[in-house]
Amino acid sequence: MSFSKIKGNSKLISSFKELIKTNSFPSCSLFYGPPGIGKFMTAFEIAKTHFCSGKSGEDISLFSDDNKGEEKKEEACGKCEECIRVEKRLHPDFRIVDAKFQASLLDEPEEKQKTIKIDTLREIASFAYEKPYISSDKFIIIDKAETMTHEAQNSLLKILEEPPQSAKIILISNDKNLLLQTIVSRVFPFKFLPLSGEDLAEILGNFSIEEKDASFLSDISGGSVGKALEFSKLLEEFRSKKHLGKLLPFSMLPARTQTYEQRAKTALVLDFLAAAAAKDKINPPLNFSRKAKEINNLLSYSLWLKHNVSPKIIMELALNDYLKYGNFDFGEKL
Ligand SMILES: [Zn+2]
Repeated sequence: MSFSKIKGNSKLISSFKELIKTNSFPSCSLFYGPPGIGKFMTAFEIAKTHFCSGKSGEDISLFSDDNKGEEKKEEACGKCEECIRVEKRLHPDFRIVDAKFQASLLDEPEEKQKTIKIDTLREIASFAYEKPYISSDKFIIIDKAETMTHEAQNSLLKILEEPPQSAKIILISNDKNLLLQTIVSRVFPFKFLPLSGEDLAEILGNFSIEEKDASFLSDISGGSVGKALEFSKLLEEFRSKKHLGKLLPFSMLPARTQTYEQRAKTALVLDFLAAAAAKDKINPPLNFSRKAKEINNLLSYSLWLKHNVSPKIIMELALNDYLKYGNFDFGEKL
């Protein structure tokens, strides 16, 4: 991986290279924009370049053709000891805060880590203020920063109010409005834009998605690789199940009978249909023309869902059901 392999946002990436070259990358920054457009990959590459010690080797071009004609100081070599430690997430001065990190910190399953908790931020605070072990600076990436609990955000705020002498922090967020305003005002913001259809189709090709599907998916996923990949899984399901009734076994049930996961999945299916319908792509390749009325109903239902997929509401419904029926198992009742 190198900067040149990251698609889209080329102006932004050029300015990052310049900041790295002149050693003026801000100590606390925020990368924000829709999911799946390369924010994390870019931050990771910046961290690698930050730690890389083998910047001057002539053999860089042997390692990757992509470096030809570029100033080598702006790119990590990808093969020195530091680069390899970063790649393996084993660099002692580097932390990536995400579900995986928190799971191992709290000794809990990874899939249970829906939010970033205060314990994790406490650990990060003590890490940030310690002296670096082998480098001149520490580097911290907080992925999906908007999933920090309120307490965790306040704990982060304390770090930002008194920035550690030798640590760089990059926050990554799909929705900066979910971060405390006091956090946003203390970081240098960088806005990432959705990828072009061409870039996206090329990336999807790397995931072994057929050209025809890649072009369809890039048309309907608003420049987000993450969304295109989710949609691609749905497309497979659609094809294997053939007709709509079987695709959406739960979506026509009253919403209160669904679990949070079912509703999130339903919302995704409906997002897919809405995007495909908006681009007039419902018919080919899905061949749902006779189901148009049903899809229309679903689309209006999706608007309703968008405003109602909330854990708090699910909890209220569950409590309501419990009082009424004496159990929480509302998926099985109908
Ligand atoms: Zn290196």
